[in-house]
Amino acid sequence: MAYERPCVLSIAGLDPSGGAGLLADIKTFEAHRCLGFGVATAITAQTEDQFFGINWLPVTDLRMQCKPLLERYRVPVVKIGIIESLAALLDLVKWLHSINKELQIVWDPVLAASAGFRFMELADRTLLAELLQELTLVTPNTGEALQLSGLSETHHAALWLAQYCPVLLKGGHAQDRGVDCLYDQEQQTVIYPGQAVLPAKHGSGCILSSAVAANLALGHSLAEACRRAKAYTETLLNSNDQLLAYHDA
Ligand code: PLP
Repeated sequence: MAYERPCVLSIAGLDPSGGAGLLADIKTFEAHRCLGFGVATAITAQTEDQFFGINWLPVTDLRMQCKPLLERYRVPVVKIGIIESLAALLDLVKWLHSINKELQIVWDPVLAASAGFRFMELADRTLLAELLQELTLVTPNTGEALQLSGLSETHHAALWLAQYCPVLLKGGHAQDRGVDCLYDQEQQTVIYPGQAVLPAKHGSGCILSSAVAANLALGHSLAEACRRAKAYTETLLNSNDQLLAYHDA
């Protein structure tokens, strides 16, 4: 018998503080009344503001963890967080689509932790273009958009990425604080924050992208999923004045 709630899978790093990565994603899925699954790409050692180390798992291990879930359950949406390399990500995404070509994939391109540790180097834009074409959405902040595209202006960077797949450009770190923009084909949808300045949180990008994934699994359009995800994230930013969010706020 199938579950009534949609299943959503996060493929991301284990952050034991629960602020970012797998644990944050699962809390977000469950808060959206989705059934959350999690596959670890890495085991990290960190707190809300300090990063101590990481052990990456090879792609063969990621497949080993994913396979039973994808065979047993109907999973319409996957969210991917930190991963060791672009090549590993492309390999994984192609494999996921060989199992289910309809699978919607949201990639949060976390290139570095806010505590400073660098997760991924971007070597090859041909590889990146090939990868983006497999995705339902990529969710860079302004710095990530510049690094991914190799360009020096954020709007142009988002347009470069949007040639290949929809882009949710997050304005959290930009001058236009908190204003996001969805680039979907020719269309641009600006998503304004409900409130001007909110307390920062560790893993807020993870929370936003997994909330988009959950809302897609619930059947919302991409623009509506992005709007709802922003509202959810804002509630969490406001849940306390510390760096780890309360998800039941
Ligand atoms: N995902 C994982 C597994 C992480 O460990 C981190 C940070 O270390 C992030 C994502 C990004 O989190 P932050 O928003 O705090 O930079």
